[in-house]
Amino acid sequence: MRKQIAAANWKMNLAYSEAESLLNNLNPHLDLVKEHPGQYVVLGVPFPYLQMACESVQGKDRVMVSAQNCNDKNSGAYTGEVSAAMIASVHAGAVIIGHSERREYNHETDAIIAEKINRTLEQQLTPIFCCGEPLPVREAGEQNAHVASQLEGGLFHLSAEQLQKIVIAYEPIWAIGTGKTASSAQAQEMHAFIRSVLAKQFGADIASTISILYGGSVKGANATEIFSQPDVDGGLVGGASLNAAEFAEIIKALKTK
Ligand code: PEP
Repeated sequence: MRKQIAAANWKMNLAYSEAESLLNNLNPHLDLVKEHPGQYVVLGVPFPYLQMACESVQGKDRVMVSAQNCNDKNSGAYTGEVSAAMIASVHAGAVIIGHSERREYNHETDAIIAEKINRTLEQQLTPIFCCGEPLPVREAGEQNAHVASQLEGGLFHLSAEQLQKIVIAYEPIWAIGTGKTASSAQAQEMHAFIRSVLAKQFGADIASTISILYGGSVKGANATEIFSQPDVDGGLVGGASLNAAEFAEIIKALKTK
């Protein structure tokens, strides 16, 4: 079985003390994956909380802390930026790359995202590569071409060996933070398509090992249905990850062997 992953994306939310209590409240629920070797939890927290989160989950099996972005350069005169090396140095294990909010508000292009993937891999961090179409593209029926081009731009420069270190999150933009979820059939259809694009470029054996998460208004009440789809390997969760009990339900919805 591929890795089944419940990944939280806290985005730009929570003061330090609120983040601290969320981590404390989450702590016992993180042991839910202990009994299921294929399951993982990833906590995508704001930069200033990386170290606190890493300390909080220290010693927990298959629980990893993630940054939500990194710079595409190694180091230098880039005021306000954070490098993949800095993220690795506080013992985080992953970085969310190419989230649609960053593509839109920070004008991140496929070329920049491809460089960020490189910086992340150089530091032995797991990139969680986000892709997904906006509503007009879905309405025009062009979502497959849109996502295929994001995959090509962000990932096709990698070797098959490097690709195996990537986690992909399919997040239809019209479902992010809107309360509107893709149906499980729509999610499955796109996940299978993504896997077919990867198979064509990297080979079917490699493509079959890549975890593809669904993101877009996942919550406790819909996670089981979405995660039960054969090509859905868990979720990247925004809003619902800010509530420990809700996120625990999402962890419980991960497939077991
Ligand atoms: C996200 O930010 O990646 C996300 C999917 O948000 P939400 O779960 O709030 O839709």
